[in-house]
Amino acid sequence: MKQTVQLTKIQEKMQPGIITRDGFLGTDRRNLIDILVEDDASVKRMDLTHEIIARRMMDLRDAGSRGLGNFISVAPHFEVRVDSVRGKLPCPFGDPGIFPKTNMTVKNLDTGKTVTFTDLHIHMIGSHGFYEGKGSPFRLEPEELASVLEVEKPQD
Ligand SMILES: [Zn+2]
Repeated sequence: MKQTVQLTKIQEKMQPGIITRDGFLGTDRRNLIDILVEDDASVKRMDLTHEIIARRMMDLRDAGSRGLGNFISVAPHFEVRVDSVRGKLPCPFGDPGIFPKTNMTVKNLDTGKTVTFTDLHIHMIGSHGFYEGKGSPFRLEPEELASVLEVEKPQD
């Protein structure tokens, strides 16, 4: 798919040392549009949406924030820790808003798997369908994320 000029500008802001030391792209050399399209396809294959995944991340963050920096149990079989870190980050997509550098760690005690994410991840996934580039230390693989968090389609 063809990359727009706007996405190229956004991709420049994702390079190391602009917003964060490591940047958002890792070793991924693809155009941003191709990263977004591939992850969007993965999410569609799971019959989910980016918004549903982001909502689940928010719910677990909110449940875990009662632990005040310690792991606490969250039903049915999770442990969640929410660590507040000083500082805030803007979104590389350039929309208004600045996001606290809060780190969430979610352990799924059923599978033994753990994922770590931030408020900026929640925003970038929910608003932009962006999970970071492959090889980024903070990349969240959509399938892995949905599986560890046991994201389910809401019943309507
Ligand atoms: Zn944004």
